[in-house]
Amino acid sequence: MGELITAYDEKYMAYRRDESRMEGAFESISFPEKEEEAAEILRLCTEKNVPVTMQGARTGICGAAVPAGGHVLCTEKMNKVLKVSEEDGAAYLTAQPGLRISEIREALGREGIRGYRLACAPTEETAAIGGAYACNAKGPGGLLHGDIGDSVCGIRFLSPDGRAFSIRRGEYLFDGDGITLPGGTRAALVDLPEKAWFTKGPFGLYRGMDLIDALAGSEGTLGFVTELRLRLEPEAAERWGVLFFFPEEEELLQFLEGILPLRETGFEDGGNAKIAAVEFYHRTALLLIDEARGQIEALRRVPDFPVGADCALYVELEAADDASDALGELLMRFEEAGGTEEFTWAGTGSQEMEKFVSMRHAVPEAVNTRVDRNRLAAPEICKIGCDLQAPVQKLREVLAMYEKGLADTGIPGVIFGHIAEAHLHVNLLPENTETFGKAVDLADSWAEKVCSMGGTAAAENGVGKRKRILFLTHTDPQRIRNAQKLKKAMDPMNLLGPGNLYPGSHREETDN
Ligand SMILES: Cc1cc2nc3c(=O)[nH]c(=O)nc-3n(C[C@H](O)[C@H](O)[C@H](O)COP(=O)(O)OP(=O)(O)OC[C@H]3O[C@@H](n4cnc5c(N)ncnc54)[C@H](O)[C@@H]3O)c2cc1C
Repeated sequence: MGELITAYDEKYMAYRRDESRMEGAFESISFPEKEEEAAEILRLCTEKNVPVTMQGARTGICGAAVPAGGHVLCTEKMNKVLKVSEEDGAAYLTAQPGLRISEIREALGREGIRGYRLACAPTEETAAIGGAYACNAKGPGGLLHGDIGDSVCGIRFLSPDGRAFSIRRGEYLFDGDGITLPGGTRAALVDLPEKAWFTKGPFGLYRGMDLIDALAGSEGTLGFVTELRLRLEPEAAERWGVLFFFPEEEELLQFLEGILPLRETGFEDGGNAKIAAVEFYHRTALLLIDEARGQIEALRRVPDFPVGADCALYVELEAADDASDALGELLMRFEEAGGTEEFTWAGTGSQEMEKFVSMRHAVPEAVNTRVDRNRLAAPEICKIGCDLQAPVQKLREVLAMYEKGLADTGIPGVIFGHIAEAHLHVNLLPENTETFGKAVDLADSWAEKVCSMGGTAAAENGVGKRKRILFLTHTDPQRIRNAQKLKKAMDPMNLLGPGNLYPGSHREETDN
């Protein structure tokens, strides 16, 4: 199929997998360096009716980059920085999709632009920027800075037949009954709702939505992104991370409820300091980290947890000038709630804060290590990752539901994540076929409950192949129909991202 495309060979085994530990298959692979090459590859695939799975760095944990036959279009050689500029108090970086998140800092330094960062980046910094956008990743800083999609102000993308389109935020918006796409095709949709609180991707379409936000989270099913223009945030003058340990969860929840209003009101004497991240470590997460010490190199930076600590809350502060008063207020509130110095770790500056990053990153990493171990005895099982998000006032209810579910079933599980948004990651780690079946049912019952509260079944980490059934089962059918119509308009032969997101096998809906 042309020089750009190579037939599958064993040396490409790694491209059959991602961090979900799923394994797929494919017949051919390509590594374009430029948009024109990618366009030619897509044209050839469309001509021969070959499905295409796009790949970033394959760090996704839902199998979205795992190929389901056909061709693998890999972005690892499309990793160049195309432009860096500073305008109106922000820096902009235009890059090819294969650029790693960790390479952004380096690129800015090289160009002599300092003091900016991609504040919403996921904790997995080896992820490629195109992959992160395509599954709309977000990191702990998402509380203040939003998700990757929010930082994207322009993209270039290719349609399956290789046509290139360049769009900027604000240029292509959905109206009540659809959108006129770049190139002139009309995607006719039905009764788009007003904006909801979870809003990205083809299943979250609403009136006034930007096409850039519909492509964020589209997981390689609507087009191949060849360029992204990202808005970077100025570095805060001061950042503090504080990890508060608690002997009991109830104390943590009360402390949390006390500090959450500060996100709106600000600190009493804290100037412009803001809460940038609030992350929860349930006792199951602290235990998992302890278990993983010795296996995960980065955990060497993380001291032993205080004796008697049951759970922990990480709070990050950012200030354009001085955060010390805000920090003082937080520490005082902790003391008033019975907290002690031994139960507080505080740090500032990138080196000191590295331990917090290592700790946060270690949880999904340790989960994967445990899953690998379990799969040695039972290869048919996998992790069940729940990224459910409930309305924030339901936090206590959902946390109690997760804990009861784990206790009642005895399934090992780990709870951590974005507690300020009632968006907790609950990873179920079944050990055999029987508990795997129970874990699937448990996740399903939780998703049903959270969605009945007005929440969503997939708030982060993508949907891919792993969470597809769970996600679709609990998504409004009208949203699914509109997503399918948009897909049909953008990928009429249904070749892109086989097996991701949508109902049916990748070919079933082409005839609808
Ligand atoms: C230890 C660990 C920690 C993690 N922490 C986080 C976290 O904090 N937050 C979070 O959200 N996720 C997290 N993840 C999951 C994952 O790292 C992110 O979702 C990441 O953004 C995926 O990027 P990637 O380049 O690896 O994409 P891939 O896994 O390669 O691909 C993801 C999707 O993007 C599509 N895609 C890739 N490139 C393109 C393109 N150019 N055009 C169109 N579609 C494309 C693929 O087809 C696929 O559907 C974590 C994973 C691990 C292993």
